[in-house]
Amino acid sequence: MDQIKIGKFIASCRKEQGMTQAALAEKLGISDRAVSKWETGKSLPDSGIMLELCDLLKINVNELLSGERIMAESYDRRAEENLLEMKRQVEEKNRQMLRTEYLISFPTVIAGLFMCFVASFVEMPVWVRIALIAFALVMIFAVAFIAVGIEQKAGYYECQKCHDRHIPTYWQTNLAMHIGRTRYMKCPECGKWSWQKKVLSKENAEV
Ligand SMILES: [Zn+2]
Repeated sequence: MDQIKIGKFIASCRKEQGMTQAALAEKLGISDRAVSKWETGKSLPDSGIMLELCDLLKINVNELLSGERIMAESYDRRAEENLLEMKRQVEEKNRQMLRTEYLISFPTVIAGLFMCFVASFVEMPVWVRIALIAFALVMIFAVAFIAVGIEQKAGYYECQKCHDRHIPTYWQTNLAMHIGRTRYMKCPECGKWSWQKKVLSKENAEV
């Protein structure tokens, strides 16, 4: 999606409707800075505000995301392209979150193991030994909790029985037995237990 083009389009539609940035912002209950950020292509309107914004600009969401008016005959194709593009962006965001999960957990585990190793083999007072091991464990647990939080929010888990894709609660995720990111959980759809795999998007079709 071309944010600059979308921004220019928002600005021109807003002017067509005879509104200033401030007037549009006020109608939407947001700051003029936010409107200015859209119009300069620095950010996209939140999905929560998009419909209202389109109403005010007398355009539809499909046109907003395309950054131009769309003729009736190419409308369906453009709608599909925009949907796919949004889906791709969501997947990419999820992929990045999962990468972050590795980036924070891997070094923490290595550092923690290294501390335990030092505490076991290097000459030092007993209390330092205990403090070092305790610190390493607390650190590993803290980061593990954060990492599971990231994993839970990035994408979905797929039930192996009915193939429903869903997001479990944080504690359901955290307490589940797991091998890597595949977790043994109960499916909210069919109620069966299975090893649920992490998937990046809600639909089965790959992009
Ligand atoms: Zn199921």
